[in-house]
Amino acid sequence: MPAPFKLAALPWDEDALAPTISANTIAFHYHKHHQTYVDTLNKLVEGSKFADMKLEEIVRNTAGAEDAKEKKIFNNAAQVWNHDFYWRSLTPAKTEAGAKLDSAITAAFGSRSELIARLAEAGKEQFGSGWAWLVSKGGKLSVEKTSNAETPMAKGVNCLLTVDVWEHAYYLDYQNARPKYLEAVLGKILNWDFAAENLTKEDHAVRAAAE
Ligand code: MN
Repeated sequence: MPAPFKLAALPWDEDALAPTISANTIAFHYHKHHQTYVDTLNKLVEGSKFADMKLEEIVRNTAGAEDAKEKKIFNNAAQVWNHDFYWRSLTPAKTEAGAKLDSAITAAFGSRSELIARLAEAGKEQFGSGWAWLVSKGGKLSVEKTSNAETPMAKGVNCLLTVDVWEHAYYLDYQNARPKYLEAVLGKILNWDFAAENLTKEDHAVRAAAE
């Protein structure tokens, strides 16, 4: 859907992730931070060549832009997409990766706990604001970290899961203790069903491209 973009609904109640992430953090993060990215993006693209593009197209067409306004458009569009993806990467429900994702995890990392350790390390080592990601390139999984609004999606990389490591994601609950936030989120509320579904989408895309 092109602009005006709307703030997508959360996939769970605002208090559903507590105590890992409090309702207070979700309220500020979603209604203030995420909403502001949506509103700012809508203002920036109005009347521009980006007004008729889908969100993903805007992100890919402004990634690495030199132009100051296009940089702002990238930052806000990517943050809208990243936050939608982050909410769906989290769940209070018990989820299972399933055989296909499990074997991809084993092939790339040896075990689920090693993958979690790598995601924790990426999130901890990201200097300043950013994101930790589980991504798939042709079914081969890896962990990446990005700064600020940067997103692997901008380069056409298939994202499976993300964790927001901007201070606003954890400061109310964990203050400066980013590793404690990462340990809790990665250990308790990752949505493995969502990751498995994203891995399957890549299969479909590869098959469609080959046909
Ligand atoms: Mn955020």
